[in-house]
Amino acid sequence: LTSRLPQVGTTIFTVMSALAAEHGAVNLGQGFPDFDCDPTLLEAVGQAMRAGHNQYAPMAGVPLLRQAVAAKIEALHGRSYHPDTEITITAGATQAILTAILAVVHPGDEVIVLDPCYDSYVPNIALAGGVAVRVPLTPGSFRPDFDRIGAAITPRTRALIINSPHNPSATVWSRQDMLRLQELLAPTNVLLISDEVYEHMVFDGAEHESAALFAGLAARAFLVSSFGKTFHVTGWKVGTVAAPAALMAEFRKVHQFNVFSVNTPMQYGLAAYMSDPAPYLQLPRVYQAKRDLFRQGLEGSRLRLLPSTGSYFQCVDISAVSDLNEADFCQWLVREVGVAAIPLSAFYGDGFDQRVVRFCFAKRDETLRAALERLRGCF
Ligand code: PMP
Ligand code: GLN
Repeated sequence: LTSRLPQVGTTIFTVMSALAAEHGAVNLGQGFPDFDCDPTLLEAVGQAMRAGHNQYAPMAGVPLLRQAVAAKIEALHGRSYHPDTEITITAGATQAILTAILAVVHPGDEVIVLDPCYDSYVPNIALAGGVAVRVPLTPGSFRPDFDRIGAAITPRTRALIINSPHNPSATVWSRQDMLRLQELLAPTNVLLISDEVYEHMVFDGAEHESAALFAGLAARAFLVSSFGKTFHVTGWKVGTVAAPAALMAEFRKVHQFNVFSVNTPMQYGLAAYMSDPAPYLQLPRVYQAKRDLFRQGLEGSRLRLLPSTGSYFQCVDISAVSDLNEADFCQWLVREVGVAAIPLSAFYGDGFDQRVVRFCFAKRDETLRAALERLRGCF
């Protein structure tokens, strides 16, 4: 058998979570909350199940949920997407991104990704027969280098994938960045896949600059988000895509033969729960407090904190505490110190190692304190 993905092993998230369980480590590796969601949301899903919403949802998603998503985007970003033709509910952002890629990338097309990038993008491009063109973010600051992005665009470039707030670097693109991107793409036919799963996790007064805010970007963009991140239910695997009707028509051609539709009671529950914006509007405050608890706990240690302006990740430079490379350091950390983290090298095509690892702070305060106690004891 010839592998479709010869370079691919098991994802780092699976590997580190298994190691964390095996060694009884505090798992700050894989990005997921260790606290439960709002009971009101559980109740809304329970009600949907009891009301008999247990058969296939419409292919594009439950209309009430698509309407709620369209209303939210319009309220937050002032852009209107038609729920019937421009919003689709997906099995998490993961399926949204794969489906968008399969829908638009032809064999041989190039797709630009910015390294470090989320680990599903490049295998997704390969499955479509496309060629991933990996352009690094600026080492150190993780800022987009628009000259390099511009230089990577060729007549074969079909799409560019961006992700802000960014996993793993916890940086956030500014309005200026988005305007630069809009200007850069204006003379091209390059499509944009804007991975905005951490849209509600921005700190210190920073704003999330959705592609929906910029007409020239929105016209060519698949906007991707995830209820898993926004409502602390990563295990439900429900996400959304918004895109102009012509793009969405192609997206749905693939979606219908991929999952067909996404689980029904969750969609009804989410639709009912979204009538109150407070749960997502308060996320910056909720997660900033967790970020600050974690950062304060490491202040004065030899782990050097990098800025964390968005997402639920905190990166640290390990060069003062270890000579190991990132991957070996994470193996050592989980076994000997009892804390799981993710090496940034896992997000690069060439395994680039800058001696930085990623911790997830989407955890109960007591979990963060337990991890801090172990880390402080060592560093
Ligand atoms: N994109 C990024 C940047 C992510 O961090 C994640 C979650 N790990 C996803 C996509 C996938 O989201 P979901 O769990 O909704 O599939
Ligand atoms: N997005 C999560 C992370 O970056 C993990 C999701 C997964 O395990 N695939 O940690």
